[in-house]
Amino acid sequence: MLNRLNWAQLGEALAIRPATSTSEGIDLRVADAFDLARLADTLQIDRHDLENSFCTANRSDALLDAASPSLRFCQICASAGFHATLFQFTAFRCCPIHGCPLRDTCTACGQPLPYRLQTGFVRRPYACHCCGLCLLAAMSLRRLHAKTGIDVAGLDRLRAWHHYFFRYAQLLSPGRRDRRDAAGQYLPSDEIQSHSSIPRRLAFIGELQQVLSLPPLMPRVYPVADATLRGTGGPRASAFRSSRCAWAARWPHVDRICIMLDAAYRRIRRSRSRRLARSIGLVRPGVASAHHLPDRRLLLFDGTAPVLSIALLGWRLSWEQRFSIQTLMRCQAEYPPFGLLEWLAFMPAHLPPPRARDREDWLLRHFVHALDETWRAWRAIASGMQEGGYYVVSPLIFPTRLLWMDFAGGTAP
Ligand SMILES: [Zn+2]
Ligand SMILES: [Zn+2]
Repeated sequence: MLNRLNWAQLGEALAIRPATSTSEGIDLRVADAFDLARLADTLQIDRHDLENSFCTANRSDALLDAASPSLRFCQICASAGFHATLFQFTAFRCCPIHGCPLRDTCTACGQPLPYRLQTGFVRRPYACHCCGLCLLAAMSLRRLHAKTGIDVAGLDRLRAWHHYFFRYAQLLSPGRRDRRDAAGQYLPSDEIQSHSSIPRRLAFIGELQQVLSLPPLMPRVYPVADATLRGTGGPRASAFRSSRCAWAARWPHVDRICIMLDAAYRRIRRSRSRRLARSIGLVRPGVASAHHLPDRRLLLFDGTAPVLSIALLGWRLSWEQRFSIQTLMRCQAEYPPFGLLEWLAFMPAHLPPPRARDREDWLLRHFVHALDETWRAWRAIASGMQEGGYYVVSPLIFPTRLLWMDFAGGTAP
């Protein structure tokens, strides 16, 4: 029915806010052009589900840079009239349902299809605005259903990747979109996008998707039970809300405390490695069962490696992969801090007690707890992957800021 409305009626039916300029069409990545309560009512879907079907809530969110302004589609899904929000994110290169590559241009004329609601689409919905090619398949519903194979298992895979991606994006807290250049001039949207580091920081999720059918676990981590808390929110709640992080403003910050914690880490690593080496064979990146994918920043191991051995490697990568001054200098602009420095950077500023001696004890206690929690998390991640037949290891799978930052809605494994 909506496809038969004219432009003004369509705007009314889709609850487009009256103040929205529609001369260039409406960017479908962003929710803020729509009155969501009214639209949810019209479409008879939950308001929360509706919000999740947009790439971002508003156009000043830097996550917008991770989504393409052109339609990205799976040809099989599109033939059945199905499109997923996830397809718009450039990190993903394949459809999680069908495994086939996502396309970003018309298959007939090669032109990009704008991911916008505009007058041209009122005349020819679901078709290329240049050549008129219709993305929908012309066949009976029964044949269409059999041919497209959009089944429950496929939709579950899609949902799992969707949640993983948005959780990770929340973890990165991309912040506001940087709309001006160094001289303070406003930039056009495509230039903002090409300057943004957000797509590169999220790209590894698409790399994971090419080797795993389901995303890795993001296990829940717990704070120190008897933490000396100040304030009312507790450390994790306030850590997420507060942008005031202890070291974040001026990292790399390799000081005496950092060196003390690094020494504690090395001690614990040595004893853990020795204990494991007595009972199982340890894997190293150079062994025969490992495949290094340098262009993907991932390590692949076949499923014969012991779970604990993979967990140890993952745990080590989480804490030390980027803990070198040289790497930090090179990747500072693109990446936030990693490992120990990352853990310190995301520590809420107001938490450690003010006296210096107490402060070191406090930090050490929390740090040892964090090492244990990461170890527990990596054991869960590795055994989850073993079921799939092989392991993927990367420091990005379990960034240490996870220990300080909580997610809205929980992260039960
Ligand atoms: Zn598909
Ligand atoms: Zn075309």
